[in-house]
Amino acid sequence: MESSSKWIIASNRLPFSWDRSEKKLNRSSGGLVTAISGIRSDVEKVWVGSAPEGLDAKTWAAQPEVRPSNGQSFQAVFIEPEIYSLYYNGMCNDVLWPLLHYESGMVDFSDESWQAYVDVNHKFAQEILKTAREGDLVWIHDFHLLLVPGLLKAQNPKLRVGLFLHIPFPSSEVFRQLPVRKEILRALLCADLLGFHDYSYLRHFCSTIKVMLGVESSMLSIEREHHTTHLGVFPVSIDVAQFKRESAMPEVRRTRRRFQRSIPYEKLILGVDRLDYIKGLPLKLEAFRTLLETHPELRGRVGMLQITVPSRTNVPVYRQLRQEIEQLVGEINGQFAQPGYVPIQYMFQSVKFEELLALYRLSDVLLVTSKRDGMNLVALEHIVSQRPSDPGVVVLSEFAGAISTLSHIIPTNPWDLRETAEAVYQGLTMDRAERVTRHRSMLRYLDTYSATDWADSFMSSLAKRSKVAKPERTVNLSQLAPSGSKMSDVMALLKDKELLVFVDYDGTLVPICDQPEQAVLKPATKNMLKQIAEQPHVQMVVVSGRDKGFLTEQLQGLPVSIAAEHGAIFADSPEGTWKRLAHGDRRRWYRAARQVMSDYASRVPESFVERKKFAIAWHYRKSPKEFAAYQARKLKHDLELALSNLPVSVIAGRKVVEARSAGANKGTFVRWYLENHAEHRRRLIVAFGDDQTDEDIFSTIDSPGIGIKVGHGSTAADYRIDSQGEVLPLLDKMVKFGANQLTLPGLTTALRADHAEDSRADYRW
Ligand code: UDP
Repeated sequence: MESSSKWIIASNRLPFSWDRSEKKLNRSSGGLVTAISGIRSDVEKVWVGSAPEGLDAKTWAAQPEVRPSNGQSFQAVFIEPEIYSLYYNGMCNDVLWPLLHYESGMVDFSDESWQAYVDVNHKFAQEILKTAREGDLVWIHDFHLLLVPGLLKAQNPKLRVGLFLHIPFPSSEVFRQLPVRKEILRALLCADLLGFHDYSYLRHFCSTIKVMLGVESSMLSIEREHHTTHLGVFPVSIDVAQFKRESAMPEVRRTRRRFQRSIPYEKLILGVDRLDYIKGLPLKLEAFRTLLETHPELRGRVGMLQITVPSRTNVPVYRQLRQEIEQLVGEINGQFAQPGYVPIQYMFQSVKFEELLALYRLSDVLLVTSKRDGMNLVALEHIVSQRPSDPGVVVLSEFAGAISTLSHIIPTNPWDLRETAEAVYQGLTMDRAERVTRHRSMLRYLDTYSATDWADSFMSSLAKRSKVAKPERTVNLSQLAPSGSKMSDVMALLKDKELLVFVDYDGTLVPICDQPEQAVLKPATKNMLKQIAEQPHVQMVVVSGRDKGFLTEQLQGLPVSIAAEHGAIFADSPEGTWKRLAHGDRRRWYRAARQVMSDYASRVPESFVERKKFAIAWHYRKSPKEFAAYQARKLKHDLELALSNLPVSVIAGRKVVEARSAGANKGTFVRWYLENHAEHRRRLIVAFGDDQTDEDIFSTIDSPGIGIKVGHGSTAADYRIDSQGEVLPLLDKMVKFGANQLTLPGLTTALRADHAEDSRADYRW
């Protein structure tokens, strides 16, 4: 990261509160400050935020805490209390908060509060512009300051401005209800980088700008004539080391023992939420009631401790919510209490940090039932505070952003009380071995992705993205065969021809498996492959991205040639000697690719890097689907930028992104093969493949060669079949037909019979 420019971080609040009686500033812990301070960079940082309540400019300036020190300084924005209230309580908390959390019924919009919001955003922009210089990175936080990117860029287009939204971005159908929707969207589009916790939020943002402004996006960026807004998913994290360290402290242990003695349950369900309608507290209590109703054996043994941290207690909606919750607690306790057993212990207060840690460790299940929640840090905190040898379990709402990064929690739809009750039951009864395995996997991810990593990845992205980006390389694929193609057309080509068959391995000869090493050739498949390849008029070459060791083992004894690592090396038979075909200096790019991929591997749960001789691949077969698919597209983009002008190509395959030596290309290999095997050159080529890498073969073979794509997705192949299981039966029939062992009517019937159950309309033959 560059050190000549400075960082300006703007958020609604500065990490201070003003103690009126003592007349002194108290530093609050501030997760953001901790996250950013943890980044190992000597870059100067300026914090901009509204002045602590009750403090005037003169007193502020006199406080020693705010003077620049250790490369950090704080700038306060002073706002009249009435304006601040209209902006904060009005526009922020009564309009944007409910609307962005899908509670549009609670929105209370007024022109006055909007005007106050505009004014305060202007004040923030002016304060930032006082200190901002060309090249500085400005990081704006959250829904309080959505107009600031537009205001800054209007004054100084050379600033590099990013905004991270800490709450959800809702469906366009909800966002479009906002009277000032276009003003906000236009201001956001002036940012160089927009960050979200979750891919779904980003997707909603993209569809909103399309619906409202007619602006297209690639999900990675929004390109307009003079400006590019980059988009990214940066799920926030916590100070993992601090939670781990402090959970093991003696005072936390003592507190835990004290609680253990006073909490009279065999199993404890814990809830920790701020008082807010988004947290779904009534749903949580109802789900607990359902649990005790459907599992009466738990009565008297299982209890819930709900900590509700007071918030906005003077706002009527929050007061009503509190009443509703307390009434429900009373009802449920009345329904199930026994002498010595009260099922719900309820606290309407915050707890001390060591108490929170003690409770995290003591609980068997943490239950989060948010109706919507930007991320939900409590879930992350619970995981890192557990004892790895006997951890508790998290039951987490599908509507919390954390669901996309925590791969082994028990998910639930909080609206479905039975499902939630059963999820809790599953958590309470889960055996220790499974708890340990699940916990280990999530902890491994969190260990490498703390709040500082989150902040670092946003800032690095902002620094990188706001330079001129190169356009993404795209493969221009031609259309599929005309839908009128008939099996007979294909078969006419095969008549009396000798065949040269190129066939891919994963996803073509064998199904895609979760672990690459599980994709072995079953004996029946191997037998069938043998019979086909043995035909005198058939020459078969398996062309795969796999390494030579694996392919040799799988294909041993078969009369096939093998091209491994996408054709970088070749052997005439599994027992033959390997020839190196790809040249070029991989040292120039391999390390850079590995570094970028390792970063992704640490952030995307269950993803990993596979190192080969001429290629390096990032696999994400078992990772959370949407999150990982988005990260894969970002990784491809990042690699293309990092490796441009180097002899390497980057390719996104099925659940894999791969960088490989320019020479390691299946198309290049096929050309080499034809040039060096004159005896096979006159054969008719038939190629099967399912992956992007096979497209290079499809694009290489000239008519009348036949390319057959397996599965969905755009392709340069002439034909398509629906699934991997059809490859060998079809090839078998093609080979037999070519050798006059099968007649055309018989063959068509056979194919129809094979696919009698397949009703998909796009099945072409
Ligand atoms: N928390 C707190 N006081 C308490 C209990 C919890 O400050 O008595 C903290 C908790 O550790 C977590 C935060 O409040 O860091 C809640 O964050 P989350 O993302 O779960 O919800 P938010 O309140 O931000 O919507």
